[in-house]
Amino acid sequence: MNQEKNECIQCSIHNCVHHAGTADYCTLDRIHVGTHELNPTKKECTDCDSFQYKMS
Ligand code: SF4
Repeated sequence: MNQEKNECIQCSIHNCVHHAGTADYCTLDRIHVGTHELNPTKKECTDCDSFQYKMS
């Protein structure tokens, strides 16, 4: 993947197709953060809804 990293979005999820690969950044212009909880109270309650699994 040769996409430009977005220095505004740090990310360590290497399993995502949008990860910059060599650096811990996302390559998208923007992401959507959501939740799988009705009443989120901890960071574990939050999700990157822009995540897409990268087949290796
Ligand atoms: S889409 Fe979300 S999980 Fe994927 S690299 Fe970007 S910030 Fe990380």
